[in-house]
Amino acid sequence: MAKKDYYETLGVSKSATEAEIKKAYKRLAMKYHPDKNQDNKAEAEAKFKEVKEAYEVLTDAQKKAAYDQYGHAAFEQGFGGGAGAGAGGFGGFGGFSGGSAFDDIFSDFFGGGRGGRAQSASRGADLQYNITLTLEEAAAGVSKEIKVPTWVTCDTCHGQGTEKASDVVTCETCHGAGVVQMRQGFFAVQQECPTCHGRGKVVKNPCKKCHGEGRIQKTKTLSVTIPAGVDTGNRIRLSGEGEAGLNGAPAGDLYVQVQVKPHGIFERDGNNLHCEIPINIALASLGGEVEVPTLNGKVSLTIPAETQTGKMFRLRGKGVKSLRGSAMGDLYCHVVVETPVNLTGKQKELLKELGESFKADKSSKHSPKEKSFFDKVKKFFG
Ligand SMILES: [Zn+2]
Ligand SMILES: [Zn+2]
Repeated sequence: MAKKDYYETLGVSKSATEAEIKKAYKRLAMKYHPDKNQDNKAEAEAKFKEVKEAYEVLTDAQKKAAYDQYGHAAFEQGFGGGAGAGAGGFGGFGGFSGGSAFDDIFSDFFGGGRGGRAQSASRGADLQYNITLTLEEAAAGVSKEIKVPTWVTCDTCHGQGTEKASDVVTCETCHGAGVVQMRQGFFAVQQECPTCHGRGKVVKNPCKKCHGEGRIQKTKTLSVTIPAGVDTGNRIRLSGEGEAGLNGAPAGDLYVQVQVKPHGIFERDGNNLHCEIPINIALASLGGEVEVPTLNGKVSLTIPAETQTGKMFRLRGKGVKSLRGSAMGDLYCHVVVETPVNLTGKQKELLKELGESFKADKSSKHSPKEKSFFDKVKKFFG
């Protein structure tokens, strides 16, 4: 939809004085005031917005001049791209009913001398490196060599972009400001200096190795010290080990993201470890010693006589060291009594004999759980 001419909106001539414009605005503002338009509020509000917009432009000398020369195009997004500023420079010009936002954008372009940009040689990017550790490495801590493809400071020019410091001179295009004013008709557009790309300085004899950038691409080998106790999700920051900045700007940081591989025996829960210890019925019944694994080798665990499945033994301090502090987690051994399989004839005979002796005992004192269960069943049906 084509926008209405601002002069038409206000009902004034192109040669109207500021006083005339103000008068027209006041009259229309009253006319479209929402309080006076209870039955068609939406329409009145839209009209009021148009009037306000026209008034704001025509009472501002700079905006009025721009409008007189370019019409509505003066405030449309992308306008002025032909000046070499790129659409980005004008972004946000459209839709300025708010007024104040528009003023801010305008002063950016017309106020000039924003400064500050010239020194913004960009800091290098942060990098992330994913490292996978075994549980043993995570628990004990480990030193790892990692290879990180990155940008490093050029060793020929030491980040200066040239071999001689005297070859770095103030940019003649922008006189060191890093920005230039481009003129197109009425507009004075401030944009990054095309010669020095905002640095304010240029290099006369660029370093041949880095082409004046001050940094080169390289796969860096780093030694990372992983502290004892790390777990999946932990992140280690290596300050200044990210990409080198442009032209000697500070480097970014390198983040080493830790992932701990699942373990064949242990399951980790914070600083504690859990593992399952299968034992046979003879050991479970009579008790004895069993060797259990820990992260630091095997230890002997005493299984008392009459140990049932689900019994848990805690080995204090055999877990993982806390990442913060010296506290040690524990190792929990969960006993599982295993029903024997692949029995020989002899073993079967022995078990049969054992079964008979259980049956012969009417008190069922060898299987109290079984007895209590069948007592309950009897009650339930009886
Ligand atoms: Zn420049
Ligand atoms: Zn160099």
